[in-house]
Order: sequence, then structure tokens, then C-alpha cells
Amino acid sequence: MDKEENYDYIIAGAGAAGLSLLAYLMDSAPSLPKKKVLVIDASLEPEADKTWCFWNQDHRFMELTHHTWKTLQVVSNGEVFKERLTNFGYHCIRSEQYRRHILERARQAEQITLLETRIHDFGEQNDRAIVHTAKGNFVAEWVFQSVLKPDSFHQAVVDSSLIQHFKGWEIETDRELFDPATARLMDFDTEQEGGLTFFYVLPFSQKTALVEYTIFSEQMLEENRYDSALGHYLQQRYGLGSNDYNILRSEAGAIPMEDRKVPGFYNRRTLNIGTVGGITKPTTGYTFTRAHQHSREIVRALAAGRNPAPWPGSPYRFRVYDIMLLYLLKHETDISRHIFHELFNKNSIELLLRFLDEETKFTEELGIFSKLPYAPFFRSIYRMKHRIFTGA
Ligand SMILES: Cc1cc2nc3c(=O)[nH]c(=O)nc-3n(C[C@H](O)[C@H](O)[C@H](O)COP(=O)(O)OP(=O)(O)OC[C@H]3O[C@@H](n4cnc5c(N)ncnc54)[C@H](O)[C@@H]3O)c2cc1C
Repeated sequence: MDKEENYDYIIAGAGAAGLSLLAYLMDSAPSLPKKKVLVIDASLEPEADKTWCFWNQDHRFMELTHHTWKTLQVVSNGEVFKERLTNFGYHCIRSEQYRRHILERARQAEQITLLETRIHDFGEQNDRAIVHTAKGNFVAEWVFQSVLKPDSFHQAVVDSSLIQHFKGWEIETDRELFDPATARLMDFDTEQEGGLTFFYVLPFSQKTALVEYTIFSEQMLEENRYDSALGHYLQQRYGLGSNDYNILRSEAGAIPMEDRKVPGFYNRRTLNIGTVGGITKPTTGYTFTRAHQHSREIVRALAAGRNPAPWPGSPYRFRVYDIMLLYLLKHETDISRHIFHELFNKNSIELLLRFLDEETKFTEELGIFSKLPYAPFFRSIYRMKHRIFTGA
């Protein structure tokens, strides 16, 4: 099929970032009247393949929250650090519900078109952006894309490159074992698998929980290794044999953890959003909250008649912290494990979550670092000085 259709905006990729932008655009319909929007994805089917967690006092998608935990727990070296959150909750949303809800709303909106097709590339012509797809070419004033890495992405300097890879089982047990008010953020008391390794437990009721096995390393594992680690953990921590629970569903992923500076634009009229737009926090993989922050800013700019801007990246000092920590995670796994223990042992979890959100003050950060062993950080500064002193 060879056709060329015109739109005001095209959202290329309807994942976490594309859908959040679509939701904010629909919210702002009165400020952006009659704007024609095309949403393209290889598949627009809602899939129960991701559970997105984030922490916040209040958020745009509160009505879609599947569960909120007010208490968080970290297990390390036989110690349990547990804290009741006072200023926010730890929430989760299921990707299936999020997509279904936002696309349902989009289907009711006259000016929005949904298209299922594979995107091949992005181009530009006469100050318009072009999306080349298997179903023809589509033209718009602005394209917001979360599907392809531009060439300049591969040219950016990378010193530390890891993958956060994981597999989780949502299980239902035959007995009441879990506390649905408490999420276990990290349980490090497991064999370390060539990189920082931990379990993550999100209980939804006394009998159901999502249990994830996570590793920060350079290589993924063979599929059966995740399964055997999950089975072993359920046996060891909860005394559950394989006949004592049903696996309701499973989810898996691999999130890049890199010190790469990601380009903001694919071309002059195509803005990168989502992970390809550099919003994923490299040391944690958390993306969801940042996707919403970026969407809000994009829509605000469009409504004010300004050009939308790329994700601004982290403030310099947080970028330096990420570069240092990624270096340690890659080169000094045992020490990283000890640093995580000390972080949770000596600081409140709520403070650490604010730190991960890059919302702490410099004095608070000094407080956090002063309780950690200095030598590894000095080593990482020395090794990474070519990045740190240039801010690259
Ligand atoms: C199992 C799992 C659990 C996670 N948990 C969390 C969490 O708790 N908190 C958190 O913040 N983050 C979490 N993440 C990370 C988060 O899901 C990702 O960082 C986020 O989805 C990235 O958003 P995105 O929009 O950039 O990409 P995606 O959500 O991957 O969306 C990209 C979209 O582009 C489409 N697409 C790709 N290529 C093409 C093409 N050529 N043509 C057409 N369409 C295409 C895909 O179908 C997809 O819909 C998790 C990830 C996984 C896998």
C-alpha cells in the first residue's frame, strides 16, 4: 500500500512513554483543539507483560493503580530493614490495564487514529516529519518516537554498559504467607550471579504475589536459570514446593543500564521519548514516572505554541553519581553489594527513594555518601574522570 497521510502529531510506539503522551494530549484537548493525532504500534493489543512500580504522593493515573504498599522492606546479610512510608506510597500499575484504559479513551476521540503496523524509519521533508511504515508513509508537524535508536545513539560514548535482566512469577499459594501492605524492594540474600543479584517481592494479597529474580550484569542467563532461582527462593524463603503454588502469569525483561548520553532528536522534527529518549534512570531502570514528567512538558510546550524539548537528562551531580555507581556495579560487584547494604542500613528508605528521583538536596546527598566507604568511590572517580570532569 502506498499512501501518505497528514497529521499534526504522530506518536510512534504505544508503550509506557507513547501512551502517557497520548493521555496527556487527550487531557489537553481544549488547549490543542482539532489537532489530528496518529498513534502507531506494531501491536495495540493490551498485554499483561509488565508491572510498573513507582512512588509518588499522587499521580495522573491514580485510578489505574492496582496496588499500593505503604511499607517497604530490604533484606541484606540476614538483616531486615523495614520502613513505613510517610510522604508517599509505592504503587503499581499493570501494563494491560494502562494500555486498555488509554486506548479505550482514544477510540472515543474523533481526532485520534490508531494504526497497527511496523515502523521502518523516520525521515523529514520541508519541515515535516515522515514515518515510514509497512502500511505507507505518514507525515506530521511533530513525531514522538519510542521505537528506534537513531544512528547517533550508537556513536555516543559508553564506558559502563550493563543489563538489568529479570524474570518474575505471579503466584497464588495454597496458604496465607504474604503481607499485602509490605513490598520487599530487594532481598540480596541469595547467590550473586556474576552481578548484583536480588529478589523483589510484591504481595497483592495474603496468597498472591509477584516474585522477581533480578540481576545487574553484562549477560542474560539461560531461561531455565531464572526459573530454577525463583523455585529455589520460594522453597527457601517461604517453604513452598512446586505443588504449593500456581504460576498465574510470568513477566521478564532486560533494561539497559548505561552511562550513554542519549540523543534527544531522531531528526529535526522527530523527538525521541521513552527509553530511546534517555528517560530510563541508568542505575535503577525506573522509567514510568519520568515518562509522565516528559509527557507533561511536551504537551505544555505544544499548548503554548513552543517546540517540544527532549528529556533534559539528570542534573550534573546526579549524572556523576550514576556514572560512579555504574562503574562500581560493573567492576566491583562485591563492593556494590556492600554499598547497597550500607545505604539501607544507615539511611531511611524514603530518603533513598527521593535520592533516586533526584529530588534530594546536596546536603542530604553528602549525608548519604558520608556513611559509605569512601575508597571505592574515589577509585571510580579516578577511573571515570574523563567522563566526570567533562560532564559527558
Ligand atoms: C517486565 C517489566 C517490568 C518493568 N517494571 C518497571 C517498573 O516497575 N517501573 C518502571 O519505571 N519501569 C519498569 N520497567 C521498564 C519499563 O517498562 C520500560 O522502561 C518502559 O516500558 C520503556 O517505555 P518505552 O515507551 O520507551 O518503551 P516500551 O514500553 O517498550 O514501548 C515501545 C513500543 O514500541 C513498539 N515498537 C517497537 N518497535 C516497533 C516498530 N518497529 N514498529 C512499531 N512499533 C514498535 C512496541 O510494540 C512498544 O509498544 C519494566 C519493564 C519490564 C519489561
